[in-house]
Amino acid sequence: MAPQNTKNPFEYAPAPESRSIVDIKPSYGLFINGEFVDGHGKSFKTISPSTEEVLAEVAEADEADVDAAVKAARKAYDKVWSKMPGRERAKYLYRIARIIQERSRELAVLESIDNGKPIKESRDVDVPIVAAHFFYYAGWADKLEYAGRGNDPQPLGVAGQIIPWNFPLLMLAWKIAPALACGNTVVLKPAETTPLTALLFAEICQQAELPPGVVNIITGAGGTGQALVGHPGIDKVAFTGSTDVGKAIARTVAGTDKKVTLELGGKAANIVFDDAPLDQAVEGIVTGIFFNQGHVCCAGSRLLVQESIADELLAKLKRRMSTLRIGDPLDKNTDIGAINSAEQLARIRELSDIGEAEGAGRWSPPCDLPAHGFWFPPTLFTDVTQAHRIAREEIFGPVLSVLTFRTPSEAVEKANNTPYGLSAGVWTEKGSLILHMANQLRAGVVWANTFNKFDPTSPFGGFKESGYGREGGRHGLEAYLK
Ligand code: NAP
Ligand code: MG
Repeated sequence: MAPQNTKNPFEYAPAPESRSIVDIKPSYGLFINGEFVDGHGKSFKTISPSTEEVLAEVAEADEADVDAAVKAARKAYDKVWSKMPGRERAKYLYRIARIIQERSRELAVLESIDNGKPIKESRDVDVPIVAAHFFYYAGWADKLEYAGRGNDPQPLGVAGQIIPWNFPLLMLAWKIAPALACGNTVVLKPAETTPLTALLFAEICQQAELPPGVVNIITGAGGTGQALVGHPGIDKVAFTGSTDVGKAIARTVAGTDKKVTLELGGKAANIVFDDAPLDQAVEGIVTGIFFNQGHVCCAGSRLLVQESIADELLAKLKRRMSTLRIGDPLDKNTDIGAINSAEQLARIRELSDIGEAEGAGRWSPPCDLPAHGFWFPPTLFTDVTQAHRIAREEIFGPVLSVLTFRTPSEAVEKANNTPYGLSAGVWTEKGSLILHMANQLRAGVVWANTFNKFDPTSPFGGFKESGYGREGGRHGLEAYLK
């Protein structure tokens, strides 16, 4: 598939990464107690969203499979993992991190095929941070008494972990690395549309000779997730996904003694003041909303720009958007890959059409989209008001809503006028204004003169309907210790 953006001023020849490095099997079982086993339930297909090619048949875990996985995790917890000294657990985490680095190209290619994200992101962002996460928590495993949770912090037991499709391997790392470092065992369910890198991770656990049952991977859809959350044998639920499902999970576990952390949706404001370096801000806006096709919970999906520079900034932004390349995720020059699923594409189309119908001005650079697969052009909405649905609801696609403000207090008011509170960005030369804004913004992460930067040492999580609990850093250990 050639780069599809025919009006692009910089034409490159196709530069596809070879997919021969990955070995996709025709079918996959469940990873329970250190082995791949057949499930009792049906199976489902995972496809490549950029071509609609069927990649593999994957087992759909039913209640009996969930039960077997939880029992394997319990046995490994009681007999091996919770008894093992932290310095020994650290060695396994370190080994996993090293194997992830060694197999990074394979992981990146497989992630791009199954998810649709550009190879330059899976290769340069997702997989390196995945390895970094395991290295980082390997470092904590023998130092838990310094985590601020008492002299002898204890693990919780078996963690049931459910992750979404937007960063399949990265969300797996955010869940598994701290859980294992603290001495818990896990049963993890990847998203239905992106199971393949989690199954490759299961192979990596085998390669690292991780004791059987410490990590169990059960594939399936929402029903499998429900069975896991409701299973009486788990001590902790860790969920990343939509706010609706997060609320349903909170209801399910209410009245039990299961601990819960929820990482949910967002509608972040990216705020540009009139003294900001505009070219740099344009790059930050593009990274904020077009990184990973906008399938990012902390995406800067609302641009708040100071009125006096709005015209100049939007002209620069449109020019920059015209250079974005959409197409083959495996092409090294691709900036925007495929939308993850037909369902997600339908949702992005619906909300964008509503934006137009409600009176906002819609603009996309001229670009031809590939004939097969799921695609949506980078899109900008101007003249957006706070009442518009595209200013309030999470679109979870490459769609930016632009609003203006005159004063810092108006920017704060508009930025906080959302049920979410995951992240925000501030662009200004004034350090004092950055600190003032960071204090006022009701968001878990506030980036200053940058956006969408992730680091294993830095805690991440939300306010309000964006969820509760933190992942990453020392704070991330709290979720897995008594
Ligand atoms: P989702 O529908 O909530 O799915 C998330 C995970 O939950 C998937 O594995 C899903 O399985 C499973 N699931 C679905 N229904 C369930 C139920 N009733 N009980 C238990 N598990 C269930 O969300 P998504 O559409 O995959 O992901 C997009 C959303 O995730 C966005 O709203 C985004 O903001 C949010 N997100 C948040 C963060 C964060 O850190 N805060 C990070 C990434 C994404 P299936 O895949 O089989 O449906
Ligand atoms: Mg897929």
